[in-house]
Amino acid sequence: MTCEKPCFRGAFAALAASLWLLSAAAQGAVAPLSTHGNKVLIGGQPGSVSGNSFFWSNSGWGGERFYNAQAVAWLKKDWNAGIVRAAMGVDAPGGYLADASNKQRVVTLVDAAIANDMYVIIDWHSHHAEQYRAQAVAFFQDMARTYGHRNNVIYEIYNEPLDVSWADTLKPYAEAVIAAIRAIDPDNLIVVGTPHWSQDVDVAAADPITGYANIAYALHFYAGTHGQALRDKAQVALDKGVPLFVTEWGTVNANGDGAVAEGETAAWMAFLKANHISNVNWSITDKAEGAAALVPGASAAGGWTDAQLTASGAHVRTIVRSWPALDADGWPRRRLRMSTIADRGAADHAVIAAAQAP
Ligand code: MG
Repeated sequence: MTCEKPCFRGAFAALAASLWLLSAAAQGAVAPLSTHGNKVLIGGQPGSVSGNSFFWSNSGWGGERFYNAQAVAWLKKDWNAGIVRAAMGVDAPGGYLADASNKQRVVTLVDAAIANDMYVIIDWHSHHAEQYRAQAVAFFQDMARTYGHRNNVIYEIYNEPLDVSWADTLKPYAEAVIAAIRAIDPDNLIVVGTPHWSQDVDVAAADPITGYANIAYALHFYAGTHGQALRDKAQVALDKGVPLFVTEWGTVNANGDGAVAEGETAAWMAFLKANHISNVNWSITDKAEGAAALVPGASAAGGWTDAQLTASGAHVRTIVRSWPALDADGWPRRRLRMSTIADRGAADHAVIAAAQAP
């Protein structure tokens, strides 16, 4: 058989796919994130990832000992987490403004996520970020210079604003930080905090940030407190055409404590899955509260047994491990085997590579 044009095209496509995979490996082996309409795309395709937020990084708060490469590697290996979040405390005691070692904790997590082919959120974890705008600009410029060429990295520029004005306070803050990042890094995803503890996504969607690519909006919920009313607000935002990213959610009450709200958690997971919304659970720490994934005294370096997971930790591990293979009602498919996940990952790579070939 002679090599006619289709054969040549096939060989070229295979070569292009191989080059893309090599390039992806060099960049941390995750597909680039972008936005289109109300979706965050993974390698140009609708999709979502699920994983874990670490606790406040603040010195002396107890969560900082989990900011190590072994914990990240364990979340990838045992939880099948596709993403982690470095929640860098800023203005609260022991935070970055008083103690620069918080930045090193972030760097440790980001480098570990890259080494494990995961996405990672660099989160300016503040409730008053508009008061520290110059510091945020400088910090994210630094992160963009270091990591802007890595597909893995997502910038979350304001964790949870309080009840402050979107138009007068939050949007101007976001535009200043986004401009600084985009002058260095033209494309990595930026997630913008929304009013009222990152719940008023409908308000942001009515007056969105324009002029920049790859901007998403933070939606936070705690299933013990927030239900259909907040999903309705999220739906309003989606209907207005903005993409959402759940950079923080909990199975328990909004104060971080209480029991796992299993039914409402399932309803949320069904909503996120149906809308391809990525999600990051609060949190990897051993603090004695409902939202903590680990029981007090759990190892800092992963290797957690079932007995070292809290009720929330065990429930979230099941969700993250099987994401996005949930049943239609939001419950994990408990029989999913790891080999199935590995096979799906390989298939996804093939699809993405084919889509990007000329
Ligand atoms: Mg970039």
